[in-house]
Amino acid sequence: MGMQTIAKVAESFEGTFECRHCDYEVGATVFAKSSGAARGVGEDAQRVAYENAETDANALAARTLQFVPCPKCGKLDPTGHSYRAQVTVGSLILGAIGAGGIYLYIGMRTRGRADESMATWGAIGFGIFLAALLYWRWGRPWRSSRKRTVFHT
Ligand SMILES: [Zn+2]
Repeated sequence: MGMQTIAKVAESFEGTFECRHCDYEVGATVFAKSSGAARGVGEDAQRVAYENAETDANALAARTLQFVPCPKCGKLDPTGHSYRAQVTVGSLILGAIGAGGIYLYIGMRTRGRADESMATWGAIGFGIFLAALLYWRWGRPWRSSRKRTVFHT
């Protein structure tokens, strides 16, 4: 793995909220926190880590606007629902793939001598952990989305 540099950002971003239901447009300030990583240490690594954190926070802020109700008609963006469904399905699929991978890895490392139920439960535990981690990370846009958004009405 080697040395890594981690940068954290907590910033507000200016964006435009466009309602898909009533066509209302309004400026919004969205607050987003993120962290980014870069290989190595030193000034360059610090700059790259910071840029990664900023790019991610920016994307998070833009996506957050899909999860706040329109200040005029109170409706939610329908694309928010499909993003949420994608995150749920994606986390479950990758969790299952991870569990399968760990199961095979345990079998290989122990040349099939591992206790079958230990290997199975270890793999299931890892799969659940991975799915929860991904769901947590990808689900940030809708978490406290209303608290992090201020409309310029
Ligand atoms: Zn609206």
